[in-house]
Amino acid sequence: MKSMEKVVIIGNGIAGVTAARHIRKLSDKSITIISAETDYFFSRTALMYVYMGHMKFEHTQPYENWFWKKNRIDLVKGYVSKINHTEKKLLLDNKKEVAYDKLIIATGSKPNKFGWPGQDLDGVQGLYSKQDLDAMETNAPNKDICKRAVIVGGGLIGIEMAEMLRSRNIPVTFLVRENSFWDGVLPKGESQMINEHILEHHINLRLKTNLVEILSDENGKAKAVVTDTGDTIACDIVGLTAGVSPNINFLKESGIELGRGVKVNRYLETNIKDIYAIGDCAEQHESIGNRRPIEAVWYTGRMMGETVAQTICDNKIQYKPGHWFNSAKFLDIEYQTYGWVFSEKGKKEYEGHFHWRHPKEKICITVAYHKETKQFLGINTFGIRMRHNIFDQWLTEEKNVYHIMEYLKDANFDPEFYAQYEQEIIAKFNNEFGTIIAPKKKSWKRIFSKA
Ligand SMILES: Cc1cc2nc3c(=O)[nH]c(=O)nc-3n(C[C@H](O)[C@H](O)[C@H](O)COP(=O)(O)OP(=O)(O)OC[C@H]3O[C@@H](n4cnc5c(N)ncnc54)[C@H](O)[C@@H]3O)c2cc1C
Repeated sequence: MKSMEKVVIIGNGIAGVTAARHIRKLSDKSITIISAETDYFFSRTALMYVYMGHMKFEHTQPYENWFWKKNRIDLVKGYVSKINHTEKKLLLDNKKEVAYDKLIIATGSKPNKFGWPGQDLDGVQGLYSKQDLDAMETNAPNKDICKRAVIVGGGLIGIEMAEMLRSRNIPVTFLVRENSFWDGVLPKGESQMINEHILEHHINLRLKTNLVEILSDENGKAKAVVTDTGDTIACDIVGLTAGVSPNINFLKESGIELGRGVKVNRYLETNIKDIYAIGDCAEQHESIGNRRPIEAVWYTGRMMGETVAQTICDNKIQYKPGHWFNSAKFLDIEYQTYGWVFSEKGKKEYEGHFHWRHPKEKICITVAYHKETKQFLGINTFGIRMRHNIFDQWLTEEKNVYHIMEYLKDANFDPEFYAQYEQEIIAKFNNEFGTIIAPKKKSWKRIFSKA
């Protein structure tokens, strides 16, 4: 009798765990997850709320601890240091070996370090892992021990770290290389609005400023940063949040094809038979549409996990992520994006933008459209919640920008008692486009016909 196929997954993040759960749903294969960070899967995106006191770390674990045994998913805590694909074996750093028939690499990302002098001092850290969360408790428990924090790198993780530290009233200086916050991703109006919002939260935002060096005290702990604008800023913690890159150093000698990440085809297969890669560490040979070849976001990790599970369970399917969307928070402003709205730096020559911003509140939207055909390309919203399924449908149906304006009320997900801004938005649109669009009343019938 053929022995049971053994699937081994490296990494217990959203990608690896989703793959395991779906393989279990689809088959009776033996499943082992090996991971170095924590015993159990937790929601990385919720780490900030633990430091801020909104939840305990245990509450970031979506599954009870008995779930894994009940579903016959073996959990091994350990760091994989080598893959021997000819013998189909893994070597752990405790010298144990683990054999596999099928291997899924789901090792996620690590915070970037760009070789700054002092980057490995005590008190210098990223915000990625459970260990980073623990380090924050040591380095910045309160404003008496941590008199100032410096954060280097303006992106989504940097602003989260700033919010965390501010929740304990720790003064924060935020060094951002760009001319305006996240202006490689956000269009100008939005990026400027976020600059204002950061400053209003008493975060000392310093644009166009680079880190040169981190200075050490006599005990090897960070005591100050030096910037390229000639300032020396005393601090007790330095947060390095200048992006992340795939966590793949241990694969250097493995024979698995690497670029910035583990190279995969549309089936998430690597160049070596029976080895797959998913989540933040996977790099598509060719990007899918406008997507980046490496997508370091939560839901794509989950989708890749579901996809690879099908393939491993004899239903070979391609990774097809559909229309791009994402959401995040900039302090207390919620941000959503559907389709493609590029920043000034990334804008396509055919891409036009319509931008509306509330005169007083930090609320705005940007709609991207094709200048010639007027096809709707994407929308960013700040402070207004939108319905994912409606925009997904409009993108699929290639609706034009006039249609979006006319039916904008259908897409609004804010509760009815929230202030609604469609009248103002459409008035500005009509003014700029010379149209006479009247917004249609919200129709639940239309909304649910698309659900
Ligand atoms: C603070 C923060 C906030 C975020 N917020 C958002 C958000 O709002 N929305 C969003 O879409 N995304 C967000 N992200 C990104 C999102 O969390 C990641 O895209 C996602 O967690 C990646 O999942 P993954 O399964 O690919 O990898 P990971 O979650 O990184 O899991 C990989 C695991 O593998 C382990 N591992 C690595 N190498 C080895 C090895 N050799 N041996 C054993 N184990 C190993 C790692 O320790 C890790 O536990 C955020 C990320 C951070 C850090």
